[in-house]
Amino acid sequence: MYVDKLVCSRCGREYSLLEKPLMCVRKDLGRLDIYYNYEEISRILTRDVLEKRPFNMWRYLELLPVPSRDYIVSLGEGGSPLLKAMRLGEKLGLRNLYLKDETRNPTGSFKDRAMSVSISMALYFNYKKAVIASSGNAAASLAAYGARANIEVYALVPHFASRSKISQLLMYGAKVIKIRWLEAEDPTVKMMRILYEKYGFYLSPSFGVFNPYQVEGPKTISMEIIEQLQWQTPDQVFIPTGAASLLTGVYKGFRDFNKLGFIDKYPKLIAVQPEGNHPLVRAWRERVDPFNIKPWEKPPQTIATGLEDTYPWDGDMGLRALYDTKGYGIVVSDEEIVKAMKLLASLEGIFAEPSGAAGLAGLIKAIEEKLVDRDEIVVVLVTGHGLKDVDIAMKITSEPPTINPSEEELLNTIKTYYGSL
Ligand SMILES: *Cc1c(COP(=O)(O)O)cnc(C)c1O
Repeated sequence: MYVDKLVCSRCGREYSLLEKPLMCVRKDLGRLDIYYNYEEISRILTRDVLEKRPFNMWRYLELLPVPSRDYIVSLGEGGSPLLKAMRLGEKLGLRNLYLKDETRNPTGSFKDRAMSVSISMALYFNYKKAVIASSGNAAASLAAYGARANIEVYALVPHFASRSKISQLLMYGAKVIKIRWLEAEDPTVKMMRILYEKYGFYLSPSFGVFNPYQVEGPKTISMEIIEQLQWQTPDQVFIPTGAASLLTGVYKGFRDFNKLGFIDKYPKLIAVQPEGNHPLVRAWRERVDPFNIKPWEKPPQTIATGLEDTYPWDGDMGLRALYDTKGYGIVVSDEEIVKAMKLLASLEGIFAEPSGAAGLAGLIKAIEEKLVDRDEIVVVLVTGHGLKDVDIAMKITSEPPTINPSEEELLNTIKTYYGSL
């Protein structure tokens, strides 16, 4: 076990893993950041050792909180390909564009990296019941890993959550409860905290402030990128951002590799948020103190349902990541996201949901604003599969022509609809 201690990001109070902490006792929403014994890890985890291990996220076990392989609950998450985007790169005028394809995770999003770590820790702590507030990918992921580990999953979702998202949770056997959202405060988070504080449920949303372990999972995205680039550090990494837990994880991953001496600099980290909900990018533009981020005042308005967090729970570390790496924030419209979805699918064969393609939309915007040089190594995280949100794909594509089985009609239709033969 290589975890030294956990330290509250707000009050500095220290915890040991043996206390099985999830939140700081002061409950002022500090995240319990995990500190590792890097000296000892660096003795064991050399480049040679790493390169001999199977290419999946558990090759970085020493840099994850799970104390031994016996507790790992896995569905084959992580180890996703880093694809060089030749056609898209040519179209955008970039020589070194890479796509980290997280759509291939077991439940279709990068959240599987987080929830496999989270459920592994629940098993280690001996919990039987877990609770999550979310309607989307994090809940689907927790439900799947919970099923595998025989841990009951309670998913508290807002009453307007879509039937198609809920059906995936129900299939994995989650106990789903729809909660009416009547006031400004998110009632699903409020109810989730009650089940944790009064009834001893394991708290497992994809926000570091409520569960410090799961946020370690996405660190492995950065570590894999470095290895896949033959130990080079990219220049810029584009990250779709909601609660900023992914951004936090990605930053921590590069930081761990820095501490171990595997890399000696950071890529610029870029947070991409939708126009209709961008509290973190707004805070970055106004250079606010990381602990003073204001929540978005209105209900989120975007097709990117994975980026609807009106308060970026891990925004403190997210903002710090932008400041420390000289990165920046970018805002994209729904139309720009749709355009990115179509480019990604038609030029590179990757079908992403709107949240999953938002990173690419951000890159296109950054190129327009002359923030990217054509020779830079650029990585875009593609975070969620298009089949998660088929309704959207159906809305943005048109009905193809129907013909009688005649050669003449076939040729005419190809000419009129698709140009030439
Ligand atoms: C959750 C999610 C994100 C954003 O991650 P945060 O940690 O909330 O910032 C991006 N893309 C997809 C597909 C997601 O499910």
